[in-house]
Amino acid sequence: MKSNIEFLLEEGNRCLKCKHEPCKKACPIGTSIPEVIQLFQKEEYKKAGEILFNNNPMSLVCSLICPFENQCMGSCVRGIKGEPIDFPKIENYIMKEYLKTTLFEKNISNGKKIAIVGGGPGALTAGILLRKNNYEVTIFDNHEKLGGMLRYGIPDFRLPKENIALLEKKVMELGIIFKGNSSLDENDILNLKKDYNGVIIATGTWFPKKLNIEGVENPNTLYAIDYLKNNIDLGKNKKVVVIGAGNVAMDVARTAKRQGNEVIIAYRRPMEDSPATKLEIREAKEDGVEFLTYVSPKKILENGIVLEKTYYDENKKLKTLENSEFLLECDYIILALSQVAQYPMEVLKEKGITEENGFFFCGDILTGPETVVKAAVTGKESIIKIKALI
Ligand code: SF4
Repeated sequence: MKSNIEFLLEEGNRCLKCKHEPCKKACPIGTSIPEVIQLFQKEEYKKAGEILFNNNPMSLVCSLICPFENQCMGSCVRGIKGEPIDFPKIENYIMKEYLKTTLFEKNISNGKKIAIVGGGPGALTAGILLRKNNYEVTIFDNHEKLGGMLRYGIPDFRLPKENIALLEKKVMELGIIFKGNSSLDENDILNLKKDYNGVIIATGTWFPKKLNIEGVENPNTLYAIDYLKNNIDLGKNKKVVVIGAGNVAMDVARTAKRQGNEVIIAYRRPMEDSPATKLEIREAKEDGVEFLTYVSPKKILENGIVLEKTYYDENKKLKTLENSEFLLECDYIILALSQVAQYPMEVLKEKGITEENGFFFCGDILTGPETVVKAAVTGKESIIKIKALI
């Protein structure tokens, strides 16, 4: 039986160090994968960790929850005729070593103060890189602790909290000030400009997209983000129907399954059309989650949900089949239909919260619900603007 490090070194040895770097090109944040693998092979973990962290402060998190099959591993040349290089596991090893063994220093201040509203991956990326560039950074978030969706929206079995705690420690070492339980409205955000040279808004998308069907207010119906954020225990041996089939739906279904329930994901399209990755779908299946496709919610009753069948017409348009309604009895219905921002960007801009006035946006409020790595990319983009303007 190989040890973890033996497996990782073998993976590193298999890397072809491709000159055209298809793995790097497929990474949304452009991780220098061949370079990092070579440093790993030489046991230069600190240097490899620095490269990873300075390019993507969310590297540790990304090594656990990125949709690898669509990114680095999906583009690895080794994957054409066999197994792709398992770079995420190498990245995870390096990042743990690096973050656990490196004491970050508080850089001197350049005298410029930046406020960040929100504490998720986009905010943390921007905050860490700004602090490393000598800006003074204060993060305001309405949650008690740092991490945003990382802490409150992704279940522990996918992203163990110890990883967020490690990141939090580094944030504190860098001298970033965190003001938790700070619930700021549009006027509070506007007022921040009196005390800060610039403000980054990274408030995310925490509000569930509502489903307008009869019975949606029944107590047997929950929204996915509320279920995950509040750690709601459904009890055991219940039948749970999850509506939707994206990443959040998979997290919800697997969480409900782990609570000891029978779980069915109901989706109006075939699973090939689902926004969830193949890996997530496979893992949900392995957990025992069942799938019911080509069904759309019609109304919610006390004893279950009425679904109607769907189909693609000759123009590939999704239609509902007339007189196809049926009741799927269940104890709970969880709606995982995406999320929206509390104060959408358009509303904030009307209030004068604009780049011209020193306000910048990053994370899900800018892009809609996205992956952690995409949030990190927008965090980096926001600091490029700040460095140019402030
Ligand atoms: S594509 Fe695969 S084999 Fe080529 S450099 Fe990247 S990780 Fe190594």
